[in-house]
Amino acid sequence: MHLQKSVIEQPAAEDRFSENQEQLRIVIVGHVDHGKSTLVGRLLYDTHSLHEGKYQQIYEACRRRGVKFEWAFLLDAFQSERDQNITIDAAQTWFHTAKRQYVIIDAPGHQEFLKNMITGAASADAAFLLIAANEGVCDQSRQHAYLLELLGISQITVVVNKMDLVGYAQSVFERIEQEYRQFLQQVGIEPQCFIPVAARDGANIAALSSQMPWYDGLTAVEALDQFHSQALPTDLPLRFPVQDVYRFDHRRILAGRIEAGRLSVGDPLVFWPHNKTGIVNSIENWNAPRKETAFAGESVGITLKEQIFVERGHLASHQQRGPALTTHFEARVFWLGRSALIRGKRYKLKLATQEVECEVARIQKVIDAATLKGAVTDRDYVERNEVAALTIRTKQPVVLDDHSKIAETGRFVIVDGTDVAGGGITYNIVYADPVEIGAADSKSSGAITVEQRHHRHGHKGAVVWLTGPSKSALQIVARRLERLLFHRGLAAFVMDNQTALDSLNSDLGFSAGDRVEGVRRVAEVAGMFAQAGMVAITDFPLPYRADRHRVRNIALKTGCEFIDIFVKSAMNGDYEAPANPVMVVDGENTPIDTLLSQILDGLMPRLQLPPLDYAI
Ligand code: GDP
Repeated sequence: MHLQKSVIEQPAAEDRFSENQEQLRIVIVGHVDHGKSTLVGRLLYDTHSLHEGKYQQIYEACRRRGVKFEWAFLLDAFQSERDQNITIDAAQTWFHTAKRQYVIIDAPGHQEFLKNMITGAASADAAFLLIAANEGVCDQSRQHAYLLELLGISQITVVVNKMDLVGYAQSVFERIEQEYRQFLQQVGIEPQCFIPVAARDGANIAALSSQMPWYDGLTAVEALDQFHSQALPTDLPLRFPVQDVYRFDHRRILAGRIEAGRLSVGDPLVFWPHNKTGIVNSIENWNAPRKETAFAGESVGITLKEQIFVERGHLASHQQRGPALTTHFEARVFWLGRSALIRGKRYKLKLATQEVECEVARIQKVIDAATLKGAVTDRDYVERNEVAALTIRTKQPVVLDDHSKIAETGRFVIVDGTDVAGGGITYNIVYADPVEIGAADSKSSGAITVEQRHHRHGHKGAVVWLTGPSKSALQIVARRLERLLFHRGLAAFVMDNQTALDSLNSDLGFSAGDRVEGVRRVAEVAGMFAQAGMVAITDFPLPYRADRHRVRNIALKTGCEFIDIFVKSAMNGDYEAPANPVMVVDGENTPIDTLLSQILDGLMPRLQLPPLDYAI
């Protein structure tokens, strides 16, 4: 089964070209010299994708000149031939198997790979991660894995090359597999398989090698055929970044690549960031007849019925399901710059066809991509090969999407001077309601969800209810807690007993009914603060369990956290100690600073937003 018959019996590549249009885009990454070019050369040869006689020709040329033959030469020859050739689309195809066409996105190094991120060329369906058996897992093998994960490339096969240099030893292969698998697991990658190969000799490339009888898994070519090709994002909301505007006689043609969705003649479009609208008049296709609809992945030029001002960097969507427009967003960034990424320093951010000035406003977390160790917070810089979760602020508003929703407009690069020094993806993007962007039909609901508000503040809203027999202790703790939270950047507000008595409850007396009503009002208002995304702290002593029970129910119906903190001190006659408070602190014997840090320790994890899609 392992002899790749289908490949070997294939007719020449050109004959097959029109038969099967399914295409898979792969990226081959690995440390320099671990054999990437050799593997590609070998894949071209073993799948008969080269012109007849090419191999012999190059082999002979090497022999005549006394140069050692390298499979990489085949790759060079193929590339230069390809570059001179025919149409752009066909030129991208590298080799075929019986199943489909393959496009290789060559990634000799980080820098290239990152640059490709802007053009979208790096949106590979799958990756081969190459490790030389004689050198084993190195820092770059780990960094590459992290980068792939960051880009959302989850189909990965690990190719352990140069097995000949370790005597084809199973033990070496297994040791590498064990070590690397463990690392990948931490990054969140589940590799499809590990394959031991000697690319130079074609061992386990298109056919299993007799040198490694202990291996009976997939060949490299079989592993490729096992990957799933990812559908182009034609069903997503339309994203059409404008690359250029051309004038032909009286017409203006807006040119660009449709990154997501589809557009048709007659569609009303919204152009961001200015929210100008226009109706598609025609879709011009390079070297092809006009058409009615164009899809994600196509480069097109469109004309509009109206003459509106549009320029490079603008982005068109439909009226519904538009992108986010913001000057602040959260991102994960992989930094490769020679000098560190510094908070507050000016950089250029490129996203789709937009270019804006930006700075890092906040660095939440930094992690070394090779070791995954030492996640640090409170840093002002990110060093080369580190990954950081951070907040970016741009000078002008940028149009973008959450990477998990539309990857093409959810990734960006950061340029330091003239160098692409980092790449990243967005997350936690809050979308404005379509009504707010002035584009959608006015009937759609304008509700902003509790979650959206919480993301705006960067923490959950909550009602923090201090209870205990000593009013003065509660008062002090409430004020100090408010200040501490405020200085940590949280939106916090104390609704204190006295102020409420003087305002909200000033019409109430001292009857039992009035007391219950007073408590209800305070609980309702505190709940609204929490819904608005704030931490509402109250110091109403609430001596009775029944009142506390009511308060909890009112706060919980808002969908926010209710955190009751029992500040214990000498009991007085009236006070009924809570049975099950979220937290208990000793208000009598603990110094106030210690008591507050105990409260903070218990409180902060409860205010954290749910874990992000991407663990860092
Ligand atoms: P790249 O920098 O990752 O593209 O690596 P190359 O493909 O240029 O390979 C680097 C060197 O490793 C070249 O001299 C290759 O001939 C050699 N090489 C590649 N594959 C193998 C292999 O399977 N066995 C041995 N012994 N050498 C190999």
